[in-house]
Amino acid sequence: MSATRSSRPKVLMVSSMPEWDLAPMREAYDLIDLPADGPSGLASAADIAALVTSGGKGADAALIEALPALALITVYGVGYDKVDLDAASRCNVAVTNTPDVLTNDVADMALALTLALSRRIVDGDTLVRSGAWSEKSMPLTGSISGRKIGIVGLGRIGEAIANRFVGFDTEIGYWNRSPKPLSSWRAFPTPATLAAWADILVVAVAGGNDTVGLVNAETIVALGRDGLLINISRGTTIDEAALIAALESGTIAGAGLDVFLNEPAIDRRFLSLGNVVLSPHQGSATVATRRAMGELVRANLAAHFAGETLPTTVLHRHR
Ligand code: NAP
Repeated sequence: MSATRSSRPKVLMVSSMPEWDLAPMREAYDLIDLPADGPSGLASAADIAALVTSGGKGADAALIEALPALALITVYGVGYDKVDLDAASRCNVAVTNTPDVLTNDVADMALALTLALSRRIVDGDTLVRSGAWSEKSMPLTGSISGRKIGIVGLGRIGEAIANRFVGFDTEIGYWNRSPKPLSSWRAFPTPATLAAWADILVVAVAGGNDTVGLVNAETIVALGRDGLLINISRGTTIDEAALIAALESGTIAGAGLDVFLNEPAIDRRFLSLGNVVLSPHQGSATVATRRAMGELVRANLAAHFAGETLPTTVLHRHR
């Protein structure tokens, strides 16, 4: 039975979700969309008990502080770099995310970008569609097998990417902030030393203030003229200006990118580069994964309002 309108908790939707999630959520909660002009336009700001946001939108300090009854931020995504955790902690707001359920699809995207880039799948598609196949041949492309793969950030997704590349008869190396004593793969002391060894560098590290520009100009140059750079993490983790310069000058061979600074209004110089494959942040965007992510968001909301332990907590309430 659904709760009566007046008794339903108010949940602020900072980002939307598919109808298959919204329909059951409307039964239990009073869903309120965040107005375009922000929380100042919200008549019910004082009564908002929880908010749902995405990795891309997050929740900044101004939003958190404008909602005095807020007790839960639930992120529809694993990356919470755009949620101000200091403000959430100060205001005693719990934060949850959707780990694990998206790992496989995001790892698959890293492999898809690597194959599309090295085998020039998009260029081949364009050639066939143009009708020019009989007049023009494709240049020869690069192999994946036997190459050295460097993973920056051996977390859940980084490890899933490495495991997939093992099936391509590659050598795996990695850089990780903390030691990974159980890993049999080769550890490198810095992203730059990893890049100097690797043929293909795959960035899977978390976003946030601490990893801004982690893959810097030195690391990009160290990858070398035949090197490929793949990023499925966040646009912030790579020095994007240095990356564009390296792609324009041929300092590296190419890049496969699912994430950028200023999505979706990305740097227009990417659009005229012939040595990139560009994906509009689609890492977790499959039906199965989005359903599983939605279920986790709803499970966190339900547990919170039932006073139960939150299934996937990033930050606990402290009082
Ligand atoms: P995870 O298991 O928590 O792994 C995070 C990785 O980042 C670990 O290697 C961790 O190192 C490292 N890390 C965290 N904070 C760091 C810091 N301050 N300095 C250096 N390294 C740091 O997360 P995951 O599930 O693998 O997800 C990784 C990232 O992928 C997410 O944060 C998100 O940005 C991105 N992502 C992208 C998409 C997409 O659609 N393209 C989808 C989902 C996720 P330690 O082992 O030392 O903690």
